[in-house]
Amino acid sequence: MGSSKTKKRTKEQQRRDTMQAYGVMVGFFAFILVAAVYFMFFRNTEKPKTEPADVPQTVTRETETVKLGGSSETENSVSETTTTVRTEEVSAQPVDTNSPGEIPGHKLEVKNGITYVDGIMIVNKTYSLPSDYNPGLDPEAEAAFNSMASQAWGEGISLFICSGFRPYQEQERLYNMYVYERGEEEADRVSSRPGHSEHQSGLSMDINTTEFSFAGTPEAVWLADHCADYGFIIRFPLGKESITGYAYEPWHIRYVGVEAAKAIEEQGVCLEEYLGVTSDYRYAEDMN
Ligand SMILES: [Zn+2]
Repeated sequence: MGSSKTKKRTKEQQRRDTMQAYGVMVGFFAFILVAAVYFMFFRNTEKPKTEPADVPQTVTRETETVKLGGSSETENSVSETTTTVRTEEVSAQPVDTNSPGEIPGHKLEVKNGITYVDGIMIVNKTYSLPSDYNPGLDPEAEAAFNSMASQAWGEGISLFICSGFRPYQEQERLYNMYVYERGEEEADRVSSRPGHSEHQSGLSMDINTTEFSFAGTPEAVWLADHCADYGFIIRFPLGKESITGYAYEPWHIRYVGVEAAKAIEEQGVCLEEYLGVTSDYRYAEDMN
């Protein structure tokens, strides 16, 4: 009788022990989880503190778009930012303060005075390049052009670069010449102020000529039809002058990579529309 009672008690004890062990384990894992979450939060919030105020907000918005499926609700509460920082490894790159605003639904970064939207360098009337940015013609863009020109040549079309990379000082001279000849208003339609020319990026080229008679030629038609296959866009399309800030230039192509070029072509948009940016000197914050 005594032994059965002991046995019973032991069983009871065992069950209690098991429960206790289980409880300890749950507690332990809960602690690990909390510690991990705290660590991630702590580690990631360190950085944005030293960065300009617009960075965490841009990031928040970006993640929110993902989370809420494109909802553009305004946030900025501390808890929202916290959630963001925890769910994503945010741009760890140091970012300059010189960014003409954030763009809802897009990721804007300024590195060494150069603005990137969704990873694509943007140079226009709003966004400029530092005067000492002097990269030369981008090798990837040049290789893409060579492949394109080679296919064109096989089809009886001759394409060549009439103007590729252009340094800041050269653009300054050119722009001043336009202003002298035609006045500032007309110069701004057809030329760029120094620092605002895409030619300084090394990613843009004028093909064959910069004469308007190029429009409608077999070369211009071929270029427009095929350039996206090689990662280029006709940068200043017809009918988009109010958005790009420049008159139609059938000869000026910009390398953005095949994926973006095809998306831009399919959507029938210009680069400004694709990236959600403006091109207007009134918004420019020149680094020069
Ligand atoms: Zn050009």
